[in-house]
Amino acid sequence: MKTRSLVGEAHEVQRAVALIRFGARLQVLEGEINLSRERLLRLYREVAGKSPAKGMLPFSTDWFTTWQPSIHSALFFNMYKTVSKASGIERVDALIRAYGLYREHLALAGLPEVLSITRAWRLVKFHDSGMLETVPCTQCGGSFLLQQYDLKRHFVCGLCDMPARAGKTRAAAAERAAALA
Ligand SMILES: [Zn+2]
Repeated sequence: MKTRSLVGEAHEVQRAVALIRFGARLQVLEGEINLSRERLLRLYREVAGKSPAKGMLPFSTDWFTTWQPSIHSALFFNMYKTVSKASGIERVDALIRAYGLYREHLALAGLPEVLSITRAWRLVKFHDSGMLETVPCTQCGGSFLLQQYDLKRHFVCGLCDMPARAGKTRAAAAERAAALA
């Protein structure tokens, strides 16, 4: 029993360290990791080399549906869904694995990281509670996230219908999107 709990605790520490290395806010750790707040704070300081940022998480569901974030959210969430299909995988492990894949893809495509691990975590929570829903783009068929009350018929995603401000880099962005697909 004692050994088992030690192994379990080591696993929690591993998860916490992975999340801290990804830059997770303390709220993510408190929500997902089964260790005391005191231990999480100590781990945070040890791994990040600083105290965690204070304050509330300001994110609403709106952010995930704006142009650039919507593309990154879709990219991450598709990976999350694929990873989650592995039998017996826990949500926090799926989050860590999918976020690692998201970052690898960005690094390969030379794209900046738009979706933080904390936002990725919020995204999964918003989806679980039905506040964000996946909707297929009517043009490319890709799966994107919309808010519960957004109009979903005839939905066209941000890659198929880029706003004017993104027009200048449209070709470059399309190329990068292809690299991500
Ligand atoms: Zn599309």
